[in-house]
Amino acid sequence: MKLKIHFLQLFMHYSIHAFMHFSLFYLLLTSCQPEQRKIITVVGEIPASEIGKTLHHEHLLVDFIGADSTGYHRWNRDSVVEKVLPYLLEIKKLGYKTLVECTPAYIGRDPLLLKMLSVKSGIQIITNTGYYSAVGGKFIPKHGFTETAEQLANRWIDEVKSGIEGTGIYPGFIKIAVERAPLQEINRKVVEAACIAHKATGLTIMSHTGLAVPAYQEIEILKQFGVHPSAFIWTHANNEKDWGKIVDAAKMGVWIAFDKFEQKETESFSEFALLMKKEGLLNRLLFSHDAGWYDPMKPGGGTFRDFTAIEKFLIPALKEKGLSVKEINQIFELNPAEVFAVKVRLAE
Ligand SMILES: [Zn+2]
Repeated sequence: MKLKIHFLQLFMHYSIHAFMHFSLFYLLLTSCQPEQRKIITVVGEIPASEIGKTLHHEHLLVDFIGADSTGYHRWNRDSVVEKVLPYLLEIKKLGYKTLVECTPAYIGRDPLLLKMLSVKSGIQIITNTGYYSAVGGKFIPKHGFTETAEQLANRWIDEVKSGIEGTGIYPGFIKIAVERAPLQEINRKVVEAACIAHKATGLTIMSHTGLAVPAYQEIEILKQFGVHPSAFIWTHANNEKDWGKIVDAAKMGVWIAFDKFEQKETESFSEFALLMKKEGLLNRLLFSHDAGWYDPMKPGGGTFRDFTAIEKFLIPALKEKGLSVKEINQIFELNPAEVFAVKVRLAE
């Protein structure tokens, strides 16, 4: 009898220990799991870890007619799908899982088209909210000039919370554009609106910028709004020839996007990657083609630029220059997983 009680006590003792260990283990697992963070695609949320190999800046359709005349009547979705789908299947074969579609509203964003293409191709597509204020405001709707930054931000926040135009499709980042020159009033306003919207939603700001002068002005505005530079992608940074300024921005936490890759850029893009490696900044670097562009103004959408040059020319060059498979994976998978993860990034 005595032995039996002893055994029971021992059994309980160990069960409690095992339970505690398991709980602790579970707690650890859930608290430091980056997979918990999400990315928003046109077919819904996915864990950030499922982004896979990614082209972070491409366009499937762009309509240059201007904000006052564009609309979904300008193209036939089935015709666009017929033309564009093979290009998505092509990159799927090359191992890509995600394509980030960087066309803002009023210049050809079409969430339903993107969803059709995503479902048919199996490629995860991410769309955006925000306005394109470059090219003299041609792609800014009338209300963009009269409303305040807060009012514009509220429109974008509403898309993040309620979906885009009743489609049930949600944006996964904020896309804006400024002039490749010192910021004008309308440029400032969209940057301010992007900061407000970032703080309310945790969506990353991708800004068509180009040169260092507007880039540093944008970083200043981020600071004024208490937004950390890591919430910001300096898009078209490859237009800036002073790489020192780019490296300094990356050191602050800014994401650097060299995004208009084509074969003739192989040397400059791969040299830039080497510089970022030397500076310990490969975890701030993004590469893409800025390609595609079904153009509804042209018969059959015009000439569509495919998304394969990185695979054909850039990745072999990166390997040749000594980047490891792990470092290349950092650029095309880990960085996109980090940059598009929904997270409010506040300045310390
Ligand atoms: Zn673009």
